[in-house]
Amino acid sequence: MNTEVTQKPEQTEAKDTLRTELSVAKNLFFGEIVEENLFPYPQMRERDREMLSMMTDAIDRFLGDKGEELAEMDRVGEQPEEFIQALREMGLFGLIIGETHGGLDLSNAAYARVLSQTSSHDSSVSLTIGAHSSIGMKGVLLFGTDEQKARYLPSLASGETIAAFCLTESGAGSDAAAVRCKASLQEDGSYLLNGEKIWITNGGIAGLYTVFARTDGPDGKLTAFIVEAGWEGVSHGPHEDKMGIRASSTTTVAFSDVRVPAENVLGKAGKGFKVAMAILNNGRTGLGGGAVGGMKALIKLATAQAKDRKQFDRPIAEFGLVREKIAQMTVDCFAAESAVWMVAHYIDSGCSDYSVEAAISKVFASDAIQRASHEALQIAAGNGFMKEFPYEKITRDTRILSIFEGTNEILRLYIALSGMKDVGATLAGLKSAVGDIFNSPIKGFGVLSAYAERRFRDSTGIGTDRIEHEMDPRLRAVAQVFERYTVQLSKATDALLRKHGKGITEQQFQQKRIADVTIDLFVGLCVLSRADHLLRTEDKEAESAVLIAELFGKQARRRMVGNLRGIRHNEDAMIDQLAGRILERGKYVWDVI
Ligand SMILES: Cc1cc2nc3c(=O)[nH]c(=O)nc-3n(C[C@H](O)[C@H](O)[C@H](O)COP(=O)(O)OP(=O)(O)OC[C@H]3O[C@@H](n4cnc5c(N)ncnc54)[C@H](O)[C@@H]3O)c2cc1C
Repeated sequence: MNTEVTQKPEQTEAKDTLRTELSVAKNLFFGEIVEENLFPYPQMRERDREMLSMMTDAIDRFLGDKGEELAEMDRVGEQPEEFIQALREMGLFGLIIGETHGGLDLSNAAYARVLSQTSSHDSSVSLTIGAHSSIGMKGVLLFGTDEQKARYLPSLASGETIAAFCLTESGAGSDAAAVRCKASLQEDGSYLLNGEKIWITNGGIAGLYTVFARTDGPDGKLTAFIVEAGWEGVSHGPHEDKMGIRASSTTTVAFSDVRVPAENVLGKAGKGFKVAMAILNNGRTGLGGGAVGGMKALIKLATAQAKDRKQFDRPIAEFGLVREKIAQMTVDCFAAESAVWMVAHYIDSGCSDYSVEAAISKVFASDAIQRASHEALQIAAGNGFMKEFPYEKITRDTRILSIFEGTNEILRLYIALSGMKDVGATLAGLKSAVGDIFNSPIKGFGVLSAYAERRFRDSTGIGTDRIEHEMDPRLRAVAQVFERYTVQLSKATDALLRKHGKGITEQQFQQKRIADVTIDLFVGLCVLSRADHLLRTEDKEAESAVLIAELFGKQARRRMVGNLRGIRHNEDAMIDQLAGRILERGKYVWDVI
């Protein structure tokens, strides 16, 4: 794999100790905290810092006074060409492309920060830029040959060519492997591409599509192709009329007997699914960064509203139920930010296995901003509901974040199953029985139990994997929560695998609980690391960061206790039964008449 994006020199202060072969999240399932990959909290490299201060200022200057224009774009559902041209001139399409190809060569961390800034003004702007960089042309960066890069990257960097990512079809949404778009190999080595993709971001403005199609044969594998919009047989539908991110272009893209030369295969033929997943994993911090920017904007709006608005002769900011919302938005934003930039650091440092962490950061950040937009609108109340205020647009715009780039349901299942699969697959003595928990029955999990017992005995003092990083004493109690529940996660994994074996893949309620514990642990450890760093560097807001870490630790503990207890004591069967009955009837069956 080409590593233009994933390996950067002179990264962060944590780089020297980073164990690039290890996944922090997957190791939590073994009861282990890979602290080399968590402490100290990574910092933006100097070059990015300088670029960022210029870019964020430029973005604020450009978008800051465009409130009315952006609202009009939302109304008509389109960004005018002059507006996109201005984005090009700001270099926003070449953020992560190397300088040799005319880009700005930002790290993934800096790129996510740029999207954070654009999102604080307008989500559709972020999406136009993000769909281009995070997924549209990411395949060329990650898998492109030198020739493909030389041919396409310069015009992608300038924005002369905008890119889109074409995976989804009417029958292939979450089940991306069900793609029916077909690429038939021709005698001259080229492919004939036929089929239709739906809901493609930038579909109507792109000059280059990364397309996933099934190659010949009944069990033909997916292959990724670079397809130019100008080629004969390529067309797109009208802009979809959407609930949110309305100004961002979303269209169908159709291919009718499109001849794709062999040199436009992206990566290896038959390896398209891997290419698609690698692109999506690598691009997730863009979405997370955008969500954080949106939350920061919401917190600013909500605090101003809470201080300005008086009821019962007092600013509503004095009321506990308003203050609670402000505090929770802040905890959520800090936590999402800590996780997103930790994951960006993994990507920038060339870590080989960060897909679970990337999924966690996406799920947490997208859930968090939806909570925040709901609560900020609630603080503004009647005003919040009116179109002349920004809350309703932000609420509409953020709704998509838990739907695309992998729904949060699918990603939760992915988080749980990836971690559990590794536990099953890597234990000595079990490997032959559980090489792949998705395909073969699991036998003899007593060995797993013995493994767990040994691990608990070997671990220090109270039987937890203790974080040895010397952290500020004020954070020790928070650290203990994550130490303790990491062990609990591994015990729960062990018990679930022993009970269900291969059948764990059908236990979605349990998978969700395991995923949510993992999310709390990974995000919590990122929060802890960041608060520790802020204390060490005597940041002037460090005390508030400690407060956030303490709050997150307590809230996460309560959630984890609930989820872990729910594994044994739950109403899953009743829920399933009721859903079954209502699904059978196809409606709510009672009335009061
Ligand atoms: C505005 C917008 C922009 C988009 N941009 C792009 C783009 O640029 N490129 C691209 O390729 N695609 C794009 N998409 C498509 C997007 O990625 C898909 O909508 C998404 O993957 C979900 O697929 P689906 O909508 O068909 O939902 P479905 O897969 O039909 O899922 C419906 C519901 O069922 C749940 N579900 C499905 N399977 C399971 C399961 N096994 N277990 C539990 N729950 C399950 C889902 O979580 C969801 O809640 C875009 C979509 C939208 C709306």
